[in-house]
Amino acid sequence: MNEIPSGVELLAAVKGREAAEIIRAIDAGICLIGDNYIQDAERLYKLIGGRVSWHFIGHLQKNKTKKAVRLFDLVETIDSFDLAREIDRQCRLIDKPMPVMIEINSGREPQKHGVLPENTESLVRSITGLSYIRVSGLMTMGPAKEDPAALSPCFREVRHIFEYLKSAALPNCEMKYLSMGMSSSYKVAIEQGANLIRIGRKIFEQ
Ligand SMILES: *Cc1c(COP(=O)(O)O)cnc(C)c1O
Repeated sequence: MNEIPSGVELLAAVKGREAAEIIRAIDAGICLIGDNYIQDAERLYKLIGGRVSWHFIGHLQKNKTKKAVRLFDLVETIDSFDLAREIDRQCRLIDKPMPVMIEINSGREPQKHGVLPENTESLVRSITGLSYIRVSGLMTMGPAKEDPAALSPCFREVRHIFEYLKSAALPNCEMKYLSMGMSSSYKVAIEQGANLIRIGRKIFEQ
């Protein structure tokens, strides 16, 4: 992973990994961790703690928001107003502002989470009214494709929304992170403007 250009942050996606291998990755320079599961993160946090930043990158159920806002520094997967409102409510109780990203279903896959590209702006506008939420960027997975180049159009569309929302300069909304690309697709994602990539296999399965 030496070929990551400066200006692109590397998140280690740790689902299913043991604390020892995560700690090795941290010793090798990783300072941003992404977990998909609350229980898993709770266990790992006890062993690893706050020496790294923690992003939640899985699908967040509303009944898990209380734990999520205590454990995580940022939630990457907001795709509904209801979820954002629940996070806002939990954050208010502990007086902790929460940066979030909007997850976009860029492949328009019915079974996948994320807001559709054309509904992103109205979701962002509604969320920016919540006082403990800070909209900080956009995240997408994109469909699983054999050829990562086939993801280019999906990533490009999300990038365009990112640029548009940045130029719109909405209150309480700073378009800072564009989180796209995994082990198989990070090069394409960086070409299309990603400044945060989420890597699991390529870090832990060498
Ligand atoms: C697992 C996961 C990744 C990393 O995938 P790899 O193919 O292991 O690099 C990135 N983002 C999300 C949301 C994931 O669940």
